[in-house]
Parts: sequence; structure tokens; C-alpha cells
Amino acid sequence: MSTSSQSYPMSGGDDQHSYIHNSSYQKAGIDGVQEKARQYILENLDLLNMNPNLSTFTIADFGCSIGPNTFHAVQNIIDIVKLKHLKKPQENSRVAPLEFQVYFNDLPNNDFNTLFRTQPPSPKQEYFSVGVPGSFYGRVLPRNSIHIGNTFFTTHWLSKVPEEVCDKNSLAWNKNYIHCNNLIEEVTEAYKVQFEKDMGVFLKARAEELVPGGLMITLGQCLPDGVAMYETWSGIVKDTIGDCLQDMATLGVTTEEKIEMFNLPVYFPQVSELKGAIEQNRSFTIEMMEIVSHPLEAVQLSNNFITSMYRAILSTVIERHFGHSVVDELFRQFAKKLSEHPIDFEKCKKQMVYHIVLRRK
Ligand code: SAH
Repeated sequence: MSTSSQSYPMSGGDDQHSYIHNSSYQKAGIDGVQEKARQYILENLDLLNMNPNLSTFTIADFGCSIGPNTFHAVQNIIDIVKLKHLKKPQENSRVAPLEFQVYFNDLPNNDFNTLFRTQPPSPKQEYFSVGVPGSFYGRVLPRNSIHIGNTFFTTHWLSKVPEEVCDKNSLAWNKNYIHCNNLIEEVTEAYKVQFEKDMGVFLKARAEELVPGGLMITLGQCLPDGVAMYETWSGIVKDTIGDCLQDMATLGVTTEEKIEMFNLPVYFPQVSELKGAIEQNRSFTIEMMEIVSHPLEAVQLSNNFITSMYRAILSTVIERHFGHSVVDELFRQFAKKLSEHPIDFEKCKKQMVYHIVLRRK
């Protein structure tokens, strides 16, 4: 199968231990920035005033994975909404207590069994859960049905690899690089076009699913303007994985041709591109946009942490293209390369975490 038509398999549940590393890196990014959004929701969520008879408050998490971050994110939202609901006891005294319905969305190959098995048990879990398999690059929920949508660290996964980057006859051919490291301008442009298209589809679908006045909370990683992916530590990691694949081709474990046809469906926009892509959609207003450094960005992560984190993130997509036998050897070689040439985190340019709250007009 050519990678250009592949969907975006991800961490999944096949390597639970590794996922914990990946998930804890993301959680560190989440914890640092949530306070402002809490405050915003507390001060501005007027859905409860607009509809005093509202009895079921609906929340959706898009790209929920297998937990536990999704549970924290959802609980956080519920706590704020409850606080907001209780703030006006006189007005709400005749209204039945709010009930919460939560939709957990991810791709159909996500391990929803693990997600539901590891949910916090009642009475801590104060909501009704629904699993929603399907790509968020399209509608996954009924029109006008969601009060707050949430998506954390998801939309850098594109719906597909842009076709040109695997086409030897195209100027946008990505040679034997395996991701958009921003070294070839035409490749960057092809990825950027795909990202803008996908973001447009994502926001259009969410605009239909959210009720007027509903909020969409988005958190993810981007690049500062002027910074290229190859200058960041996570860019260096992916380039190093590409180098290991080259070494394996030399040894006959895989082939140059296979590497040339392989690219990751991942794109980290620069911050102004991200803002531009969001502003294209006229159904939302940007209520809050905060750009912060990831708290672990300049911390020297251990080689083991990096290896298991990237194995968790990439093994499914690599296995699908190169076959099962390649993954163990690839990450063995990667660990070896890292120990010979450790990444100097101090010297790398930093990625950023963005935190955006959109309001459905
Ligand atoms: N939000 C979680 C998981 C982030 S990992 C957290 O913060 O920990 C990214 C998740 O997005 C993965 O579970 C992946 O399967 C999902 N994902 C990627 N593309 C998707 C798509 N098109 N539709 C739905 N989910 C998607």
C-alpha cells in the first residue's frame, strides 16, 4: 500500500507501557496551560443562561486515544460547568441538576476497550459515555448536538500524506526524508496545503456539531514563525529515524525504494499559518489564543524516554509500510544512534504549545 493513501494510525494500545511515556509528555503540556481556559469558560460560557431548561450538557473529545489524558480533560470541563451552574442558585433553583453526556471520538482502530476499561469508576465518573469511532476530518456527531468540544494534540495528524511528496517526478518529492523537516521548500508547501485543507474540514465539521455559543477548546504543538522542524529536537528525532532506515537499507533489511515512498502524515504549522487556517473558517470567533513553551521542551529527556515515546507514536505507521519485522530492529538502531550522539536539548530550537478557545457564532 502506498503511504499517500494511508490513514494515520497512531500510538494505539499495542504498546501500553510506551504510551504512558507519550501520554505523560502530552499531559505535562496540558497541565501548564489549562487555567486560563478554565477562567474563560467560567466568565463567558453563557449557554446555561441562554437555555435555563437545559438538562443534559454534552461534551465531545476528538482524538481521545486510550486515556488517561482524555478523562482529565473531560472532568476539568465538567467541574467548571458545574461551578458555573451552581453560581446562580436562585435562577437555577427550579431547574433539574445538570447531567453530562460525553462522546469519546477517535479513529476506528483506536483501542476503545482499553479506554472504557480504564475509565475512573463511579461515583467519580459523573457522566454517561459514548464511543464515537470515525475520522474527525468529517462529521462524527449530529448537527447542533455539542456544547463543548475538546481536542488535544491531534490535528498535526493529517488525513493523508500529500501525494506529491512520494512522487519522484515532482518538485515536491521528499527524497529519502521521512517527514516534513522543512529542508525542501516545495515539500513544506505541499504539507502546508494539506494541513490547511484538513483544518478547514475539521472546523467545518465541528461548526456543524456545536450548538450556537458552544466552545471548541484546542491544544497542540506548533512552530514559532521562522523556526524549521529540522532545528527542533523532535525534528532531529524523526530525521535520525530516517537515517536508521537508510542504514537498514544498506544492510538489506529494507530498500531505498520503500523509504522513498514513506512519509509521515504529520505537519506542525508555524504559528501564523495556524492562526490563518483557523481564521479561514467564518463560523467561529477566536476567544482566546495563548502560545506557551512546553514545560519539558528544554529539559534533557533521557534516551530511553525518547525511544519509547517515538516507538509508541510511530510503530503502527512504520509497521504498516515496512512490515512487522522492521520495527524492533529500527528502534534498536535508533537507541544505539541516540546513545552515540545524544540530542543537545539546550541547542535545539523550541516548539510551542498553543491553546485556543473558539466560540461557535
Ligand atoms: N488527545 C489525547 C491523544 C493525543 S494522540 C491526549 O492528549 O493524550 C492523537 C490522537 O488523535 C490519537 O489517538 C489518534 O488516533 C487520534 N487521531 C488522529 N487522527 C485522527 C482523525 N482523523 N480522527 C480521529 N482521531 C484521530
